[in-house]
Amino acid sequence: MINYDNDLLYRVLRQYWGYDEFLTWQKEAVECVLTCRDSVTVLPTGGGKSLCFQLPAMCIPGMALVVSPLISLMKDQVDSLKDAGIPAAFINSSMSSAEHYSCLSDIRQNKIKILYIAPERLVMNSFIELLKAIKLSFIAIDEAHCISMWGHDFRPEYRQLKGLKNVFPNINIHSYTATATELVCQDICKELQLTAPMILTGSFDRPNLVYRVKHRDNVFNQICSVIANHKTESGIIYCIRRTDVDNLCSRLNQKGYNALAYHAGISDQDRKKNQEAFINDRVDIIVATVAFGMGINKSNVRYVIHAGMPKSLEHYQQETGRAGRDGLESECCLFFTYSDLMTWQKIIGDLDSEAGKIASKKLKEMYDFCISTSCRHQAIVSYFSQKLDTQSCGACDICLEEPELMEDALVIAQKIISCIVRLKNSGREAMGASSFGSAYIGRVLTGSKDQRILQAGHDRLSTWGILASEGKQNIRIWIEQLVLQEYLKRDDEYKTISVSEKGWGVIKNNETPRLTKSLQIHPEQPKPQLTAWEGVDNGLFNALRILRKNLAEKQNVPAYIVFSDASLKDMALRRPSNLNEFLHVTGVGQKKWETYGDTFVKTIVDYCTANSIGMDTMPAPVVIRQVKDSPLSAVKLHAFELFSQGCTIDEVATKVCRATSTVFGYLEEYIQQEKLTHPAPWVDDKTFMLVLKAMDEVGADRLKPIFDSLNGEIPYDLIRISRACAI
Ligand code: ADP
Ligand code: ZN
Repeated sequence: MINYDNDLLYRVLRQYWGYDEFLTWQKEAVECVLTCRDSVTVLPTGGGKSLCFQLPAMCIPGMALVVSPLISLMKDQVDSLKDAGIPAAFINSSMSSAEHYSCLSDIRQNKIKILYIAPERLVMNSFIELLKAIKLSFIAIDEAHCISMWGHDFRPEYRQLKGLKNVFPNINIHSYTATATELVCQDICKELQLTAPMILTGSFDRPNLVYRVKHRDNVFNQICSVIANHKTESGIIYCIRRTDVDNLCSRLNQKGYNALAYHAGISDQDRKKNQEAFINDRVDIIVATVAFGMGINKSNVRYVIHAGMPKSLEHYQQETGRAGRDGLESECCLFFTYSDLMTWQKIIGDLDSEAGKIASKKLKEMYDFCISTSCRHQAIVSYFSQKLDTQSCGACDICLEEPELMEDALVIAQKIISCIVRLKNSGREAMGASSFGSAYIGRVLTGSKDQRILQAGHDRLSTWGILASEGKQNIRIWIEQLVLQEYLKRDDEYKTISVSEKGWGVIKNNETPRLTKSLQIHPEQPKPQLTAWEGVDNGLFNALRILRKNLAEKQNVPAYIVFSDASLKDMALRRPSNLNEFLHVTGVGQKKWETYGDTFVKTIVDYCTANSIGMDTMPAPVVIRQVKDSPLSAVKLHAFELFSQGCTIDEVATKVCRATSTVFGYLEEYIQQEKLTHPAPWVDDKTFMLVLKAMDEVGADRLKPIFDSLNGEIPYDLIRISRACAI
């Protein structure tokens, strides 16, 4: 096993990125690069994939090559890196020949640490020769699913990456994607000819997103009430059709909102202009079809609204995923009706073809998600074959108990179920059809005088018209909810509905289903309590946003390249009164500290003095719900067992074939799980006492201050383990 300098890793992380800790799986992904093991890392949008290759690139000699499919994204990433003081560059077709020449010359002189290129470049001989002449550290393939036919965004150019291993047999290849099913993952490994790759799959859950799904009635008012909660913040509104985009956009502008449209019917030039205005915070809202989104790296999108139902849960996950990339709480609202299902079916066209059947199945799963009465977070991750370890997420309409449930759900369900039973019996008696689809059942329950109903004599059933006052739409949804909760069964082939074993329990009063008051207009819910914002001074946060915007405009870069919302929030929470304190803010690395420190500290001091607000406060630790679910868990369990036998870190590392730093991570989890209060045999008493004392002085929420107060003499890993025993 190749060892690396763990302390250096944390130093570089702080110096350039201003972070003290890794997000889930980042460290493992970085380790793959440092220990020269090919890898595939699957993390959701906002999971922090870029850092997984950018950080190791700064820790090892040579230049890292990053293959990326989108020119706009490349520029963005390179601008961000440069702003953090990292020598990065890109080569693509948008450059002038002078720029191109100067970049090549920088590469030859080993001045570049991270180079972004489009895949096409890798088949050019002159470029390959150049790479062979310099020291190449590793190759990172971003958006790696583009190589697979099974992915949702296959790009033929990516197929050219097939021969990479032959051209550079001694260079490791690491690939990154947000959307890989098992099949796509295998395809990536095969196409890139990866050698014994490590596959790291993060959780698909996005705990900082609050999901809400509601019936659409007056959609314009519904949308406005969401936006009202996010005045002057950035948001995306998705519509199914272009005409809906145009209508909604102009109505929003008439109402005084600041919105621009984006869809395939708008000229390339205008689309680009509108997208840039949004990215640079010159416009708050973008109203778009699904055409919008690829390559949007904007981290401060605070809400995503779907004015219509997306066509699959994959699309929903991806589109809502554009909210809250900075990890801060963001809202996702979806407004749907049954008619969306019909609209998509029309767009899909041939539903009987192979592709049509798949699309139709995905559509149905999406609709079931909309009408479901169970946790949205849970539903999304289980779609991707994962599971959340919590009963209530506290971040979806269902767990926040927002949809009003019918108080008399039992009675309604009994009426529906007995109608189905009666239809069945009457069919048997009359030797006619005995099973019916949900539309027909709904018509009988609402008392329809349809020819077919009259002919069958179903208007004479005692359940005919028994739910007439509730309306067809409600009944259809209740039937679907009863199917989802397994009180009713749907025949796969004929789509007819029958009563299940569990459904008979309803008739006998043994079971009570959950049915929603779907079509009534509920009062808007107040914004959920944003615990992550506790202690943050809103006025100061806004003042800092204005400062950031002005600075970004001067440099002609998007605002989030200067600082993310997460950094501004941390500033408005800590309110550092001097440059020393400013260095503790998350996202403040060395270069940003030098470039922006004075200006930001001055604004903070001025604001706090004028408003008599205290400065230099110590934030309480924020606990973010995270799930780790991956093929690695077996390894972790093995490690846990070895810990329980008292094995040392090195012993465990050798036995489970992992770097010691990973094993320290496992140990931290083990200590938390077992609630250990003493770190022996992994940390000696003296060290433990020193760490406890330091924690008393500087608090326990961040490692860096503890490390500093111990004069850097105790390695981070030992501090981490000691801390785990103390809190
Ligand atoms: P992805 O490419 O996976 O969608 P990004 O690389 O754009 O994600 O990162 C998402 C956000 O998370 C960015 O704002 C980034 O600065 C932030 N981030 C990344 N790593 C960390 C970390 N270790 N600590 C705090 N924030 C991080
Ligand atoms: Zn939930």
